[in-house]
Amino acid sequence: MKIATFSTHQYDEQYLNQFNTGHEITFLEVPLNEQTVALTAGFDAVCIFVNDLINVAILKVLKTNGIKLIVLRCAGFNNVDVSTANEYGIPVVRVPAYSPEAVAEHAMALILTLNRKTHKAYNRIREGNFSLEKLMGFNLHERKIAVIGTGSIGKAFCKIIRGFGCEIAAYDIFPDAALKESGVVYGTLEETLKDADVVSLHCPLNEETHHLINENTLKLFKQGAMLINTSRGGLVKTIDVIEALKSGQLGYLGLDVYEQEATLFFRDFSEDVIQDDLIARLISFPNVLITSHQGFFTKEAMEQIAVTTFENIDAFVNGKELVNRVG
Ligand code: NAD
Repeated sequence: MKIATFSTHQYDEQYLNQFNTGHEITFLEVPLNEQTVALTAGFDAVCIFVNDLINVAILKVLKTNGIKLIVLRCAGFNNVDVSTANEYGIPVVRVPAYSPEAVAEHAMALILTLNRKTHKAYNRIREGNFSLEKLMGFNLHERKIAVIGTGSIGKAFCKIIRGFGCEIAAYDIFPDAALKESGVVYGTLEETLKDADVVSLHCPLNEETHHLINENTLKLFKQGAMLINTSRGGLVKTIDVIEALKSGQLGYLGLDVYEQEATLFFRDFSEDVIQDDLIARLISFPNVLITSHQGFFTKEAMEQIAVTTFENIDAFVNGKELVNRVG
């Protein structure tokens, strides 16, 4: 198959080339959007990532250009209009679970860094400053952690925090029987957020969960709690979170994803003036830690993404069942 692969970096090329099962891949650095969709002419399939966009207008061009398959090399599919793709007869496949531990471990890294301030200690020591002033954290042991969404990543996260001796409260529209059995306490969103010291988001972004964390739900948080989002930026209403940080209602914020990340993440703007005032404000807080959607970014996950991506493509080419089809 001739595949146009969008939003690619050196590491995508490396892993997709290594596990390619014989397809003709063209690596494009640009994201797929209304300005770049014309580049798909002459290809059979598009391979996209988290910030590429496939809406109705783009699907019309994909259909005209003869694109037969949309291949997501990620788990989330909120950036694709799947029902219209189905109407157009273009299947959408994804990599549902490549390494849930990669993202769960990154969520833990954000918690530990924000709490114990190792990033600040690292910089201080390099400057010969051995003071402990303002580096005090809190024990995670016996703290209440709220896990919103207990699918693959949420489950892996529960396993990690159990090791820290935390009390686990969870909210999911489909509670997991095994987790319940193991002592995880499921409740309503309100019950789960109440009194939690840390709230970690692991549910998908959809119409129901868009801006799940907003002015009203932030009022349910324990004063000074920590919010961690490694799921999708749209789960959190950024402007409301900024207000909660300013008032102290929110004590810490760890983000691996951001509402407007499509125009920023995965690129170097170190010599530019950042035009996004919301992220500029977030960066200014001492108790905010932002990473650039790197939760998935481990060797194991990259390998699994590449392997499953080609399994999906081969299944389509060979007329087999598309086990990872969305919708
Ligand atoms: P999953 O489908 O295994 O689990 C999602 C869970 O969320 C399910 O248990 C589901 O029942 C629950 N859920 C759905 N709607 C809900 C709602 N309205 N309220 C509460 N719970 C709800 O998905 P996963 O593999 O665990 O991934 C979770 C999310 O993590 C993905 O959707 C993706 O957005 C994100 N993700 C981020 C990265 C990263 O690099 N930061 C990498 C992979 C995935």
